[in-house]
Amino acid sequence: MRASLNALTDELKRLKASGVKSVVVSDEGLARLHKIVSARAQAKVVGASVTPEPVATKSAPLPPKLPAKNEPASTYQAPPAKFTVKPLVPAGSGDFPPPPKVTLPTGDKQTRWDALLQLVLNDPVCKAHVRPGKKIVLGVGNLDARIFFCGEAPGAEEEEQGEPFVGPAGQLLTRMIQGMGLKRSDIYIGNIMNWRPEMPVPPGGVQHGNRPPTTEEMAYCLPYLKAQIEVVNPEIIVALGSTAVQGLFGAGSFKTLGEIRSQWKLFAGKPVMVTYHPSYILRNPTNRSKRAIWEDLLKVMERASLPITDKQQNFFLEK
Ligand code: URA
Repeated sequence: MRASLNALTDELKRLKASGVKSVVVSDEGLARLHKIVSARAQAKVVGASVTPEPVATKSAPLPPKLPAKNEPASTYQAPPAKFTVKPLVPAGSGDFPPPPKVTLPTGDKQTRWDALLQLVLNDPVCKAHVRPGKKIVLGVGNLDARIFFCGEAPGAEEEEQGEPFVGPAGQLLTRMIQGMGLKRSDIYIGNIMNWRPEMPVPPGGVQHGNRPPTTEEMAYCLPYLKAQIEVVNPEIIVALGSTAVQGLFGAGSFKTLGEIRSQWKLFAGKPVMVTYHPSYILRNPTNRSKRAIWEDLLKVMERASLPITDKQQNFFLEK
């Protein structure tokens, strides 16, 4: 019981630190919390008490999706209101070992990438964090790709299939790539994270929703992303959403995604175009938001000297 409350407190603290002002808890979840708290009071437990951060709660029938700090594009969803003792890895806990040092063999790209895949699949930290029966996820795609898309972290479908961007956001990303006149097999897609960040799940249940990775988690996986960039050696990187930008440039590197979106940055010597995550469009399927991300992709096409037709130039412009 205490572990459950501690896990809940850690999660609330982490959410608060990441800018979430309120979470919504289902009636059932609230009832369970009341039960735990009153059981504790009755048992007259002495010792350290667990005081959740002052995060507002209100009743709601479904776990809602909440935007992560500064970014409506986030794939973040509030945790379901049932908590278990499965420990989370709270931000700032210092529980993470230092990031791995990745040394790849010499050889062609495929040899080096295959070696990297083995490193990631056998990494004890990745193995410890991936849920039983789920998969560690490395990037996929053309090792000669000129454009490298960088996302956030695997979600439910990705950890199931062991491949990035295969869920709804991935399907939209594929359409975006096709809009650029390319195929998914022309490009490379990687993520900041190699496993789906864990959230509390009810005993025997499944994880609902996603949370953004902590800075420790991102820092741990970064060498694997860098190694993929090194192997693929793309001309351009496209950072999808604020988590990707935080992973590449550091958590404090910007205040709002809007402030740096549509700009060129530099990472590992490569130009990086910062844009929204496709899930932003899934949540805001307006011509305005589609046009915003499309304009960023037009910049990428221009820089890559890809042909741009008038039709492509005018995609999502209000008629
Ligand atoms: N969102 C991401 O950022 N990465 C994935 O692999 C899937 C969804």
